[in-house]
Amino acid sequence: MTTINYTNAAVYNHRVQDFEANHYIVVDTETGKIVATGTGFVDAGVQVDETIDMEGKYVMPGIMNAHTHMTSVPTYWVNGGEDDEHGDSREFNTMYAIKNMEDAINNGVTYIRNVGAAYNIDIEIKKMQESGMIKGPKVMTSGRAFTMTGGHGSGSGIEVDGVEAMIHGVRTAMKKGVDNIKLMVTGGVLKNGETPDDIQFNEDEVAAAVTEAHHKGKTVAAHVQGAQGVKEAARAGVDTVEHAFNIDDETIQIFKEHGTVVVPTMNAMYAIYEYGEKTVPEWARNKVIVNIKKHFASIIKAAAAGVPIAMGTDAGTPYNGFESESAYEMQLYVDKAGMTPAQAIDTATINCARAMHIEQEYGEISIGKYADFIAMTEDPCEDIAVIQGEKDVYQNGVNVHRGIPQEKISKVTA
Ligand SMILES: [Zn+2]
Repeated sequence: MTTINYTNAAVYNHRVQDFEANHYIVVDTETGKIVATGTGFVDAGVQVDETIDMEGKYVMPGIMNAHTHMTSVPTYWVNGGEDDEHGDSREFNTMYAIKNMEDAINNGVTYIRNVGAAYNIDIEIKKMQESGMIKGPKVMTSGRAFTMTGGHGSGSGIEVDGVEAMIHGVRTAMKKGVDNIKLMVTGGVLKNGETPDDIQFNEDEVAAAVTEAHHKGKTVAAHVQGAQGVKEAARAGVDTVEHAFNIDDETIQIFKEHGTVVVPTMNAMYAIYEYGEKTVPEWARNKVIVNIKKHFASIIKAAAAGVPIAMGTDAGTPYNGFESESAYEMQLYVDKAGMTPAQAIDTATINCARAMHIEQEYGEISIGKYADFIAMTEDPCEDIAVIQGEKDVYQNGVNVHRGIPQEKISKVTA
């Protein structure tokens, strides 16, 4: 067992919504977990093999992103595709996923929940990451997303119709090893000939998927945008609603009854709005123009009502990848959804861990949790944009990426 004491850091604590000065974090690099943490000096009984001085550094849990598509190539849309029936090969998608994994970890993203991957590639990528064959965040998988025949995401998803087909499909996906079930419950932006308000799966189909997933301890994430679809999915018991363009008072009530978590993916809309003119097809960008204000107002309403928000970007959509976009999504929550910087940090850490049902081991810096964290030289509670800048990244207690210039790093041995 090798233990490293990261000492003298300002460490983020979601319980006080701030960084606490002069903290140490002792990690066991064999288990990857935190074995001691506190203020000042380490207790005499705690074994320390190596001490690393973190003076001047702000340390927070690694960024978690609850909504990514590691195999999706955003330039496909830029190239004027008519719908999402894309023709990328398994090899192309796999290599692209490996690149995205590396981008993510180098930008401080230590855990992703992938919610729709062509060819079930995320299942294999997860195995490769766990065995150390590739660099990247830990992965919660969904395999291919479920959609109705001809529905949203049908290009790379699995088409199912009716309760029987849904039960069989969900059981098959779980047999293949997915951690989460992704359902396309309404239409969406990046497919022609449908709108975000269209209901696609009916409530019985959604409820059947939820029952099957929950029986095996798996979660369900629902792509839902229009008002009716959001209510239907929440009533049917999905764990997270993704996007949610039209949250009203009744929806808030349903969320509270069912413990539903909202994953906003604001950058997916914002990036198309901001950068997509003349590149993203008109039929797609027009849907963004019609819905972006409603979407942002919807997230403001949910956050203000105390509905738990878990950060997700929809990485894989146009101008929305695996680099600084996760940190930028947090900035959008501050600038456009009325959150404090600390609340925005919580969406990407403890709230994500809870939404993904892994809060026993992730989402905060405390004893028994995995030592996945990032270090910065400025305080993100003062300016949330700091998280988009230079940072060092630690996974299972060891440094996996250096973003802070070497001259700013001091190292002493105990
Ligand atoms: Zn998505």
